Amino acid sequence: MFEHLPKAPLQPLHLPWLASAGVQAAVLRLDLIDPLISGNKWFKLRYHLLQADQTGAPGLISLGGNHSNHLHALAAAGKRFGFATVGLLRGHPQETPTVRDLQALGMTLHWLGYGGYRARHQEGFWQPWQARYPGWHCIPEGGSGVEGARGCSLIVEQARAQVSALGWSGYDAWWLAAGTGTTLAGLVLAEAGARTVHGALAVPMDHGVPDYVAELAGNQGYRLHDACRGGFARFDEQLLAFIAQSEQHSGVPLEALYTGKALLALHDQVEAGLFAAGTRLIFLHTGGLQGRRGYL
Ligand SMILES: *Cc1c(COP(=O)(O)O)cnc(C)c1O
Repeated sequence: MFEHLPKAPLQPLHLPWLASAGVQAAVLRLDLIDPLISGNKWFKLRYHLLQADQTGAPGLISLGGNHSNHLHALAAAGKRFGFATVGLLRGHPQETPTVRDLQALGMTLHWLGYGGYRARHQEGFWQPWQARYPGWHCIPEGGSGVEGARGCSLIVEQARAQVSALGWSGYDAWWLAAGTGTTLAGLVLAEAGARTVHGALAVPMDHGVPDYVAELAGNQGYRLHDACRGGFARFDEQLLAFIAQSEQHSGVPLEALYTGKALLALHDQVEAGLFAAGTRLIFLHTGGLQGRRGYL
């Protein structure tokens, strides 16, 4: 069932630039927890699924774009655990590999256009949908919010249980990609100041993520780094070459929206001397590989 999250393996991460800086790293592979419900999204959905189950909701509704990892995980979880699902999509009807999966997984899709999608933060946005789908459980865009962060706190337990198997006596910091910052907030809550959580922002710094993380997790225990390279979902040659090379060296697959940008930002900070030799880092692989079919 959905309350038992599958275990993500913690593996040594070997890259030449880490070795030359004397930084030890391991990667927590959330991309491997499930073939369909991938990455941080299952953790973000966990408490929503529990709530929907407890309230007897007939289904789940959420929003996203046409490559959305969140909607993909939601559609797969709905199919697996017996909830109907509705996806409210940005823009006009389009065929992408993700959209085809959503349909195949039984999700009902409504295309909101661009203006309609922008209205998602306005008061009353959910009203007509709640009238149309009475009793359904509504999940904010990207699975953000307190429930999402609480679910992500469980990621830290999974890593701690495996650290000694790496031959480490402990670890010093986390590094992960951040979009809404919900996953980051979950780690900050679980670490409670014991270790710094570094968030590599895949969206521009002024996107409201810092405020949102502070709201959920307070003002301490984390640092944010600009990793967006000109905007969300913008790719450049240097990024794509870095991803190809890193995959070759480490054997860990990456995508270009989040995990590739996060690793490149880590590379830049390691080169700039942010971490002393001997530092032990956990890089959180947040998954998202399904989205790669759209562009890599
Ligand atoms: C959704 C997603 C993120 C962003 O997670 P937030 O909790 O919104 O910060 C990071 N990486 C991948 C691969 C994702 O799909």
